[in-house]
Amino acid sequence: MFLSVFDMFKVGIGPSSSHTMGPMVAAARFLDELRASPFEFHGLRASLHGSLAFTGVGHATDRATVLGLAGFIPETFDSVKADAAMAEIVRTKTVTPEGFGALAFDPRNDLKFDFGPNLPGHANGMILMATDAQGDVTYQQTYYSIGGGFVMTEAELADGKDTDEGDPVPYPFKSAAEMLEMAKIANKSIAEMKRTNEIARGCTESLRSGTARIWQVMNDCINKGLTHDGILPGGLNVRRRAKGIHDALLAERGMNLNAPHTINDWMSVYAMAVNEENAAGGQVVTAPTNGAAGVVPATIRYYLDHVPGATESKVEEFLLTSAAIGGLVKFNASISGAEAGCQAEVGSAAAMASAGLCAVMGGTPEQVENAAEIALEHHLGMTCDPVKGLVQVPCIERNGLGAIKAVSAASLALRGDGQHLVPLDACIETMRQTGVDMSEKYKETSLGGLAVNIPNC
Ligand code: SF4
Repeated sequence: MFLSVFDMFKVGIGPSSSHTMGPMVAAARFLDELRASPFEFHGLRASLHGSLAFTGVGHATDRATVLGLAGFIPETFDSVKADAAMAEIVRTKTVTPEGFGALAFDPRNDLKFDFGPNLPGHANGMILMATDAQGDVTYQQTYYSIGGGFVMTEAELADGKDTDEGDPVPYPFKSAAEMLEMAKIANKSIAEMKRTNEIARGCTESLRSGTARIWQVMNDCINKGLTHDGILPGGLNVRRRAKGIHDALLAERGMNLNAPHTINDWMSVYAMAVNEENAAGGQVVTAPTNGAAGVVPATIRYYLDHVPGATESKVEEFLLTSAAIGGLVKFNASISGAEAGCQAEVGSAAAMASAGLCAVMGGTPEQVENAAEIALEHHLGMTCDPVKGLVQVPCIERNGLGAIKAVSAASLALRGDGQHLVPLDACIETMRQTGVDMSEKYKETSLGGLAVNIPNC
């Protein structure tokens, strides 16, 4: 099992990795399949199923699908160009992705939200179709957006191709127990093992520059969120709060007015800044998803700005450790809110962040595993019930609280010796089982929880 640090942390666009990025990635894959086909195509169609239908409008799934079919990809997404392209597509009822002439595609008629049963493979299903000159479907592919921007076709999912198939890596741990055993035998940290695995897969020079870029985008996102105010899009009239809170925190600095718990406001405000940017459709890093994108950056920023002796040279170690933990959660359970509720998103993010912080503060592999376990354990059972299908309430504040739990968990773990009762593997399996048992109402459908109990929403 190998998931690169650059699989866990991908530059993308808001508001959702599974509902915005995933469909755009699926559309790009579909266009590649059409390009490789010997046949000629004249038009495109798409249908969205399960959670992609139920919360698709709030998560901009429709827009992401249309733009994806027009050739946009998350990595280079430009919102100004996208707005212009959308207007043109609506006007001409065609898309013109690279390598094709104009393909008939009227977003009002050719993109359907199917509110029937989920497709069999996953709660986030979509079918993309290509038509001939008569408008008959001559090629189609079913894709599943399985969380964190990862996409699989129906056949890949059936083959269990969610696992890596490349060359073997030196430390192929599939569980936390294996990870600790390998660390002990090799006398290496989790980050050192992860780094060795990445290098074995050909990532050498690019590892340093790639992780530096990931942190740069994360930090830029925090800074943008701390300077933007106003109302978030989507109709819920949620006011951006990060800037106001940050301004107040800066004004109070050095005045000796604050209770010690004010440090929590700093952690919250960094995370909220990211998630407000995400909700506004800005550029974020999936960590491991967009909905949970604030927890890891907020914890890194807390470390750099508030922990004495912290240094930016340790951010790579932080990200590698986080990615190792995120890979274990993804491989053995889920990082998808549509599959297992918010425990899989903010819970996973908190486990990753806690592990990263524990590592850069000198934690042993056992303490790092303990930190991840504490953070995940205290998110178990958490549902996903976004109001109006928007990644705003409860998501924005929830990332702040996720960061606070991550820091607390790392701190608790560092005060121990790494010995603890609940192994991380047991906690991950509990999360998986809880996700299986969880009602569909609480898995990113907005059919239960806060989504149905807020007046006038
Ligand atoms: S409630 Fe959690 S899982 Fe659901 S959209 Fe918000 S952050 Fe994602």
